[in-house]
Amino acid sequence: MTILEKYKQLNLEIEKIAGRCGRNKDEIKVIAVTKYVDTVTTKEALDAGLEHIGENRVEGGVEKWEQLGERGNWHFIGSLQTKKVKKVIDKYDYFHSLDRLSLAEELDKRSSKKVSCFVQVNVSQEESKSGISEAELIPFIEKLAEYPSIEVVGLMTMAPFYQDPERTRPIFRKLRELRDQVEGLGYQHAPCKELSMGMSNDYSIAIEEGATFIRIGTVLVGNPLKN
Ligand SMILES: *Cc1c(COP(=O)(O)O)cnc(C)c1O
Repeated sequence: MTILEKYKQLNLEIEKIAGRCGRNKDEIKVIAVTKYVDTVTTKEALDAGLEHIGENRVEGGVEKWEQLGERGNWHFIGSLQTKKVKKVIDKYDYFHSLDRLSLAEELDKRSSKKVSCFVQVNVSQEESKSGISEAELIPFIEKLAEYPSIEVVGLMTMAPFYQDPERTRPIFRKLRELRDQVEGLGYQHAPCKELSMGMSNDYSIAIEEGATFIRIGTVLVGNPLKN
């Protein structure tokens, strides 16, 4: 199947899921995660109408961005080393893994405009996953007010891979509750309306639990390790 065909199928799926949980399908945006594929395939995704591109590696994204950066919105979804911020700051529209003040400081310092960030929360509390803990979230958000360029547009999490995606539900539900809590505080620097959650194996659960950005690689643009 071409990316266009897969995207059409995914859109139908999103519409179906949104319908059954009473959401408007337009609230759910698809980020095509192109980390496994080359520039040609990334261009194919843009040509298919995908408006959001996600990359998780500084080096992996640069070549694609140089050729295609004028098109679409670019999301940096991986963990980001502070010293590499200057390489990516002007290329990406969103950063999904803000998880420490040193990173906020560097993003703020290097940017000449607002930087749209998702705070990454380690809801599942896996050692291997980055992100701040639930308990630290509100104090962290409060401290971000000190960095004038930082705008917290939402929260992001990664669930563990489960054979049965239903097991991710409590994680996604918790992230939504945290989002509601932060949004409710009404901080000017943290409108926090978005929820970046759900990947190829668990996006349907994420949508049911309120995702506004789903990050899809394998089932949309392909993954050489899996297909
Ligand atoms: C790779 C990756 C994805 C996409 O994963 P798939 O299972 O291939 O859809 C989403 N989010 C992040 C942060 C990733 O690193």
